[in-house]
Amino acid sequence: MTKQVKVGNVLIGGGAPVSIQSMTNTDTRDVFATLRQIDALQEAGCQIVRLAVPDREAAKAFGEIRKSCMLPMVADIHFSSDLAIMAMEAGADKVRINPGNIGSPDRVEAVLSKAKSCGIPIRIGVNSGSVEDRLLEKYGGVTADALVESALDAIDYARSFGFDNLVVSIKSSDIRMNYEAYTKMSAVSDVPLHVGLTEAGIGEDARRKSALGIGALLLAGIGDTIRVSLTGDPVQEVILAKKILSDVGIRRSGINFVSCPTCGRTQVDLPSIAEEVKSKLEPYSEKLERAGKSLTLAVMGCPVNGPGEAKSADLGVACGKGVGLIIKNGEILYKVKEEEICKALIRELQKMV
Ligand code: SF4
Repeated sequence: MTKQVKVGNVLIGGGAPVSIQSMTNTDTRDVFATLRQIDALQEAGCQIVRLAVPDREAAKAFGEIRKSCMLPMVADIHFSSDLAIMAMEAGADKVRINPGNIGSPDRVEAVLSKAKSCGIPIRIGVNSGSVEDRLLEKYGGVTADALVESALDAIDYARSFGFDNLVVSIKSSDIRMNYEAYTKMSAVSDVPLHVGLTEAGIGEDARRKSALGIGALLLAGIGDTIRVSLTGDPVQEVILAKKILSDVGIRRSGINFVSCPTCGRTQVDLPSIAEEVKSKLEPYSEKLERAGKSLTLAVMGCPVNGPGEAKSADLGVACGKGVGLIIKNGEILYKVKEEEICKALIRELQKMV
């Protein structure tokens, strides 16, 4: 098990629930716009928010935002110990930095001793673009081993200053390399892992890659906090992160919709029924999500496998020739005609939610 660190009121690692984080993409110096985006992220379910702090003006704005922000705030810093210290003085709950690019040892020491006196963790953020030249040479380019060695070196470096309040990420945009790097890291280190896939891209491809990359790690029991990286509105990152956690069974919420692929036994227009039912689920799913609850709804095509699957769901239908058996909590309730299946399922769903 990984060690545990505290970011504001959120625990990371050591068996704490996997938390969801995201990063604002407003100009941090625009306090109003950034706060508005943080509100939207929080509303969507974000638990930790990270802000870029590229200059002194942004560090000052970070302090202003801190006064009104309810979420734990992480300052994202590159190359400047001064900005890291400013952000911590402004109330950062965590700093994301790479000790390797912060400058001379006395600067690293200044940052780490400030974090120590503030009692806040540092995330060492290694990614494909930050691997040191000597490791690129040693491994012949960016590899999982190069990422891991870069992270372990940074951890050792921080520990050489007596600092151990750490989180680490080793992101790649290549799913396989990402998986290998995190798996190897998890085998040799007890530092809590911030898991993600960097630069996943846009649209459906990015969503698929993120779900695969992060989901595979979570299923292997790896990852203490997650960040989905999508180009565009970060609220979408949080929505997808929640879906990934739900799909891998870590934090089930909303409606888990199941429908069979159909085959030669199907004797109803199952694709249309499934589409119609799915299109009506959102309000019920949202209600369940808000209550932190979930249920499985199954739309199955035949009397062979259908009843079994529908019975193991909370609510379902097993279809026959032009008809459907409505099944709730494992009990057959009644039979309806094909064209009434959707209405019957939604009626039963209303009673359950
Ligand atoms: Fe075919 Fe029935 Fe399985 Fe659907 S549930 S794929 S109809 S066997």
